[in-house]
Amino acid sequence: MLDMANAEIGVIGGSGFYSFLDDVTEIQVDTPYGPPSDSLFLGEIAGRRVAFLPRHGRGHHLPPHRINYRANLWALRSVGARQVLGPCAVGGLRPEYGPGTLLVPDQLVDRTKSRAGTYFDGLPLPDGTAPNVVHVSLADPYCPTGRAAALKAARGQDWEAVDGGTLVVIEGPRFSTRAESVWHQAQGWSVVGMTGHPEAALARELELCYTSLTLVTDLDAGAETGEGVSHDEVLRVFAANVDRLRGVLFDAVAALPSTGERDCLCVNALGGMDPGIVLP
Ligand SMILES: [Zn+2]
Repeated sequence: MLDMANAEIGVIGGSGFYSFLDDVTEIQVDTPYGPPSDSLFLGEIAGRRVAFLPRHGRGHHLPPHRINYRANLWALRSVGARQVLGPCAVGGLRPEYGPGTLLVPDQLVDRTKSRAGTYFDGLPLPDGTAPNVVHVSLADPYCPTGRAAALKAARGQDWEAVDGGTLVVIEGPRFSTRAESVWHQAQGWSVVGMTGHPEAALARELELCYTSLTLVTDLDAGAETGEGVSHDEVLRVFAANVDRLRGVLFDAVAALPSTGERDCLCVNALGGMDPGIVLP
């Protein structure tokens, strides 16, 4: 008998990804960092227990800079998840990355400003423990196993995903100015979003595997000649692609290794260092 409050894989994405699953169990999880964006919704895909967490809360009420990223990753780990898939909507920074492009990034640039981006901030937790000073490597911010699973799953859905590229994460909630967008492109970066950081960094600090799947919903302001990005257009393109993105996610879930079989760099991200706090 499976423990219904347990999951081995986490998916940070909205209700479009789990609402039609049979037997979804909703559980509320609290964390030392406060509550996550919403309840966790636990279900089963291809025999794997998966916890879904709506990143912006159900009803999409949390803007990117107000999301409690630390609580979200902590909550997923606390129910047993050790591998996390993080689909998100992005703007394309190259003309060839138009709406409907799926890109699985291999690099990340943080241009956010106001977010709690580490568990190792020196501040004690409510239980009295305090984190040590820990510096994890984020040279390769994404799990290579998870990336391979995502790319293969996309191919299986006849959706040739772009293998690699740099996701630049901006603070938002506004979109980029034309000058910012042109600058991002000139750096050679691929797509721009608002939620990819600190998700990947926090996952690494918790020794979770994290894979980003970015769906291009628009060309960023400097990559096209029109009026720039509108929120309605983003929502329209996302809705048009949510079914096949769900298919990719589910196939990727099925292809991920079991928790005990992980052999990637993520598993030992702390390198045996004492974090000072007890990971859930
Ligand atoms: Zn990994």
